[in-house]
Amino acid sequence: MNTKPNFPDADAIKKTNLKHHWHAFTDMGSLDEKQLRLITQAKGSHIWDSDGNKILDGMAGLWCVNVGYGRDEIADAASAQMKELPYYNTFFKSTHSPVAQLAEKIASLTPGDLNRIFFNTSGSDSNDTVLRIARAYWAGKGKPEKTIVIARKNAYHGSTMAGVTLGGMEAMHSQGGPLIPDIVHIDQPYWYDEGGDMDPEEFGLMRARALEEEIDKHGEGRIAAFIAEPIQGAGGVIIPPESYWPEVMRICKERDILFCADEVICGFGRLGEWFGSIHYDLQPDMISMAKGLSSAYLPIGAVAFSEARAQEMFATAGEFFHGYTYSGHPSCCAAALKNIEIIEREGLVERVRDHIAPIFAEKLQTLADHPIVGEVRTRGLLGAIELVPEKPSRKRFENYGTVGTICRDHCFNNGLVMRAVRDSMVCSPPLIITEEEIDELVAKARKSLDDTWAEVK
Ligand SMILES: *Cc1c(COP(=O)(O)O)cnc(C)c1O
Repeated sequence: MNTKPNFPDADAIKKTNLKHHWHAFTDMGSLDEKQLRLITQAKGSHIWDSDGNKILDGMAGLWCVNVGYGRDEIADAASAQMKELPYYNTFFKSTHSPVAQLAEKIASLTPGDLNRIFFNTSGSDSNDTVLRIARAYWAGKGKPEKTIVIARKNAYHGSTMAGVTLGGMEAMHSQGGPLIPDIVHIDQPYWYDEGGDMDPEEFGLMRARALEEEIDKHGEGRIAAFIAEPIQGAGGVIIPPESYWPEVMRICKERDILFCADEVICGFGRLGEWFGSIHYDLQPDMISMAKGLSSAYLPIGAVAFSEARAQEMFATAGEFFHGYTYSGHPSCCAAALKNIEIIEREGLVERVRDHIAPIFAEKLQTLADHPIVGEVRTRGLLGAIELVPEKPSRKRFENYGTVGTICRDHCFNNGLVMRAVRDSMVCSPPLIITEEEIDELVAKARKSLDDTWAEVK
């Protein structure tokens, strides 16, 4: 695959694309043919574009191709399922083998008693399910006034109305509103940007206690749930100070509210455990998941709910009028089952925890000496590099957000996919990335930092 020739129809495809395809998360008004990247194939940790460039995918697609590209086994499992029973729904008491097996498998991997699995088609609609379950659960218990969900600023929970409203992205809130009522946001545990002169651990405690203050502000009798990512991904790989999660868990336990961990990124090995909740010793009542569940070979999401609470809900709420045509889609479930089988067979979760994450941490950290780098932080196979004009001050570039984009474009030109979140470069490579590929990632990142520094200093 190293010598992939130029893609024959690239220009024609780009023209057709420009004419009719409305890209996700793209400024269509300024998109031109020169900026389009046509991706043609992929293998392991690499992708190829139509010019024949081999590019290291430091993002595993969109934080999702955990087992890497080119897993024919998953394609075969989905294909076999499509031939046997391509589709049947899970509405009105129907079921099929792959959905039953996958529910059992997920229940065996989630922490605590999160053994009741509702299937969705993505992370966004999993969080819609979370919102509906949380409110319906309390209504079923005779507390219909518990409707408020507390989320965090700069969180990402998806792109449906519930996903956008639960998320804390101002730019997303500014489009397509009004948003869903009774969803409120507290400050995030982002020490690097918002910690000022505070000690990180003190800052972590303060941001955790914002949850308590918000609960008291409305009254516990109004709060249905708190939702948060163990580590904020799209917000910029924000790794909370160690003090943060234990304090949040204390508050959640003392209060009569549900805690939902959005594990769409942190689940399925990303942090060296099956779930980020295990890594941080959280005890959520609900986990939403997607991405790594199928390593993105087919779209599927799920919500795992506490069995004890589910039983309460089943006993009181009657029929839950909720579900998607593709909830528990058999071919997607078959792909997810095979994906999980691969993760187990190859010991990828343990590989991340015991072997490759420590190497990733050590090697990415070597970039901290670069003049444009203010901080390098990692956890599992998530990493972030903060770009700043002068160290050790945490002052930002003027036009905050533009230098990250410059660096991202240099990365791509240097054969590396990293994503820019404002002026942080983030990465989330496939769990199968090798030590040599990490060297490649760091070398290409350093070259891109050099190119960026030369351009902006
Ligand atoms: C990607 C993501 C989502 C949304 O998932 P989609 O499959 O894109 O709908 C939700 N939450 C988190 C934490 C995510 O990273």
